[in-house]
Amino acid sequence: MAKLIVSKFGGTSMGDAECMLRSSEVAFGRGASLVVVSATSGTTNDLIALGKASESQPWAEAEKILSKIHSRHVKIAADLHLPTESMQRLETLFEEMGSIAKGINLLKDCSVKAMDTLMSLGERMSSVLCTEAMAQVLKRHNSDKKAMWFDVREVLRTDDSFGKARPLTKEVESLSQKKLGFLRDYKTVVVTQGYIGSTEEGMTTTLGRGGSDYSAAILAEGVAADVLEIWTDVAGIATTDPRICPAAKPIDEISFKEASELATFGAKVLHPATLLPAIRKNIPVFVGSSFDADAKGTWIRKEVEDHPLIRAMAMRKKQILVTLSTPEMLHAHGFLFQIFKIFNDHKVSIDAITTSEISVSVTLDDSTLVNKKLIADLSEIADVQVEENLTLISLIGNNINHTPGLAKQIFETISDINVRMICLGASKHNFCFLVSEDQSTQAIQRLHKKFVEA
Ligand code: ASP
Ligand code: MG
Repeated sequence: MAKLIVSKFGGTSMGDAECMLRSSEVAFGRGASLVVVSATSGTTNDLIALGKASESQPWAEAEKILSKIHSRHVKIAADLHLPTESMQRLETLFEEMGSIAKGINLLKDCSVKAMDTLMSLGERMSSVLCTEAMAQVLKRHNSDKKAMWFDVREVLRTDDSFGKARPLTKEVESLSQKKLGFLRDYKTVVVTQGYIGSTEEGMTTTLGRGGSDYSAAILAEGVAADVLEIWTDVAGIATTDPRICPAAKPIDEISFKEASELATFGAKVLHPATLLPAIRKNIPVFVGSSFDADAKGTWIRKEVEDHPLIRAMAMRKKQILVTLSTPEMLHAHGFLFQIFKIFNDHKVSIDAITTSEISVSVTLDDSTLVNKKLIADLSEIADVQVEENLTLISLIGNNINHTPGLAKQIFETISDINVRMICLGASKHNFCFLVSEDQSTQAIQRLHKKFVEA
């Protein structure tokens, strides 16, 4: 039986007409039925700049950005010889973009709602263009399949947290089955948008930056796909960032659990939430490069053949360490509850935690520092100390918490580097610790040499 494949292509894979045609070739070659695309490279950033300029600058500034976005898409349309009907669809989107920007400019206010609708245009425009590229590729191969543009907002139901909306999985599943059930006939290649969704009331939402991977996974779950493919500009997930360690090499296969740790702890290849739906429905995920589709790429699956102690390393920069201490924690209970409640109220996610009898330290993204109210709330119950410019280094692999001597080997390798905090034990798959930002590259290079290259 044919497999139902969902393929997602990122912004660089949508860079221009040539990229769109190349990506469509890849999708055709793999037999994808649902193609999920990002905005053309740079467009989401431009749309954000457009929203901001419209809000606070003279209209001429917004016009400059509008024309930049406009000409980028018109160029691709011309290169693809876009047929009239699709050109009209694109023109309508240009008009919508102009009128939202104008509205923001008149009100001098760019609400999160307006920003989401504005940002949604990136994916809505690129998907119109990519549908045409797909149609041309199908024709080139004399395929009897048809390319079809689809508005993902018909199925990707989310809550109303604009800017970082959460998909409502159950609704997405029933809508997908209703509206995309025809995919199983394998007569159509549907091209749709990543990153965007819609509330029950029909308001457009976005899933947060880089959210197209997550969209594709949610859709794969919705249509009960057999495989999810994420196509980017690198040939899979590497043992660490090759810009830091030239000896880093692509990983052939990695388990869901290890890959989740890796995505969360800093490997930039996948949006961290992408694997959640895949894990829920046990859908294998492939990560490859649309520029080099024959390269091996990485398979992420539930079961993998080998289980190396250390498979990969990641680092997450711009971390802060917040230490909360109070003598009241001595022999008391409920202190951690109070602390976590405050983080929860502020919707701040904590990555690593360590405690002593009277203090607890947590790592956070340094962007949380802008939230003065969070620090103030924490200061009400404890003495708060903040250390900045730290990097969280993670070693990802298997059986990490049951391997004698591992910690010794790790810290011997970086014995001259001060380690601020260590987290070991909670996971079989992750050993992480904090070092100062300026020593992080060195630490990764040495550890990669010792544990991966050796
Ligand atoms: N276009 C969106 C962004 O740039 C979503 C994505 O590309 O995944 O963040
Ligand atoms: Mg991306």
